[in-house]
Amino acid sequence: MRLPSDVMPISYTLDEDRRRLLIDWSDGHASEHAYEALRRGCPCAWCAGEGGQRGSVDAETRFTEQQTTLYEVQVVGRYGLTPVWGDGHHTGIYTYERLRATCQCDECRTPRGERG
Ligand SMILES: [Zn+2]
Ligand SMILES: [Zn+2]
Repeated sequence: MRLPSDVMPISYTLDEDRRRLLIDWSDGHASEHAYEALRRGCPCAWCAGEGGQRGSVDAETRFTEQQTTLYEVQVVGRYGLTPVWGDGHHTGIYTYERLRATCQCDECRTPRGERG
């Protein structure tokens, strides 16, 4: 699914209690992203690898609480955002398209066959 170029986040909420990033989008959707899943999916070269090099993060990686605590989000141009984590890690750029594809709200999970 390609995201129309005029669809972008209009606001961010860091839900400290549920440890989730909540994003309100210009098309009316409200997406949810668990901190840990977001951190595990970090697309930076160090975490995800690059050019055939294995990254340092995979499905088995155990994170500290600090590493999965979202400190803030920084907007990157008009296409994505960078989460700043409690341990200072901030090199992953999550495109809007990627964020929408990994949204964990019920509405998005059901068609993907995921269950909570
Ligand atoms: Zn990373
Ligand atoms: Zn959703």
